[in-house]
Amino acid sequence: MMALGFFNTYSRALEEFSPRDPPNVSIYTCGPTVYSNAHIGNFRAYIFEDLLQRHLETRGFKVHRVMNITDVDDKTIRGAREAKISLTDFTEPFKRRFFEDLETLRIKPANEYPGATEPRYLARMIEMIAELIKSDLAYQAEDKSVYFRINKFPNYGKLAHLNLEELRPTGRVRSDEYEKENIGDFALWKAWDEADGEVAWDSPWGRGRPGWHIECSAMATTLLGDQLDIHCGGVDNIFPHHEAEIAQSEGVTGKKFVRYWMHCAHLLVDNQKMSKSLGNFYTLRDVIAKGYSGREVRYALLRVHYRAPLNFTFEGMEESRQALARINKWLERLRETSGSASPEEQRAPVPNNDFQQALDDDLNISGALGVLFESIRETNRAMDANELGPAAAKAWLQWWDGINQVLALDAAETLALPPEIEALAEARRLARLAKNWQKSDELRKDLNARGWEVRDTKDGQKITRRVGPEP
Ligand SMILES: [Zn+2]
Repeated sequence: MMALGFFNTYSRALEEFSPRDPPNVSIYTCGPTVYSNAHIGNFRAYIFEDLLQRHLETRGFKVHRVMNITDVDDKTIRGAREAKISLTDFTEPFKRRFFEDLETLRIKPANEYPGATEPRYLARMIEMIAELIKSDLAYQAEDKSVYFRINKFPNYGKLAHLNLEELRPTGRVRSDEYEKENIGDFALWKAWDEADGEVAWDSPWGRGRPGWHIECSAMATTLLGDQLDIHCGGVDNIFPHHEAEIAQSEGVTGKKFVRYWMHCAHLLVDNQKMSKSLGNFYTLRDVIAKGYSGREVRYALLRVHYRAPLNFTFEGMEESRQALARINKWLERLRETSGSASPEEQRAPVPNNDFQQALDDDLNISGALGVLFESIRETNRAMDANELGPAAAKAWLQWWDGINQVLALDAAETLALPPEIEALAEARRLARLAKNWQKSDELRKDLNARGWEVRDTKDGQKITRRVGPEP
């Protein structure tokens, strides 16, 4: 059995994992296009990437992960125009909400979140396009846009396992495509047109904006170098987006761009493709508004193997809630036992590494969760029979801490409060100690106005982020 292996989309095979420069691992993940609140299908991919990062860290690797933010494309431009505001004013709130959502789902922040419209990346895109033109891999067409010439890149189609012949036009070519030499050629630089309004940058080929694919090649190579260990995304990114990223990056650097391509499967809702017209379209905020916690949604999106389609249902959310309640109860029981003076310690099961070993096999989460729940069953049985004493309970709690590094499903609220909220909360705590109820109420209102909920419990006040209304 191999130590640690992943299924590589490029080879369509399970491959042993060996990064270029161990223990360092570079990961690039295609991030959101910030024109609306991200939906649960998007978060399925980000949770798979979080599991990947956390497992690699458990296995001693040092992960450097970059996730881009697409803040210019047809959808963002259209949104800004319809709202009659600038592109930045339009994308900024969605970007902020996206980061809040990541926190809600306990997804580890990436090391960097480059934005496509930042000057350093635009400069890199222009530089790469110029290189591609110089080596005849790109050309400017009559419509003034610049296209990648796929016929000149022999490996084009290798990731998606496509035959180039299939990309050749067989019938009538759409009239708006006539400028291209080949129907499969994709835009690197899009010449300005009226619909772009004020969104345009200068380039050697005239005013315009970058194509989506070149953004990722430019940001990935700027921040992670010419060669990455892992590139992730959803299966719908494979073609043309990731195929194009390979062509552009390798066309410029002449080096193999990515060692391991990893893609997660679709998310379905009630066994159907999620769509607004079917009424089964959910943002994370929609699900939270129905009364579920970020932890419950995290579990629901995590529990299915990343290469299998995930069918999201509200019965599934209930199952997730029950599974987490079972974990909570088990932990409570272990904590009680660990503090007891019970001397009985016979046939108790012993903690093992089966959880991590299951994940070594292409992140087999179902196997790993199977190990967890089997261990819960066995240790509960041992506690029922009074065969599990304090030392064993402590060992199992430690075992849980290890796997919780990967699952991030502990019940404790792990969110750190922003400093200004922390300060208001502290002021309110002091006001209540001094029995200054009027001041305490004012501070509660202030916290509410800033988007935070305050609950007074027997253990003191609890501050949680309120889920905001739709924009
Ligand atoms: Zn991308």
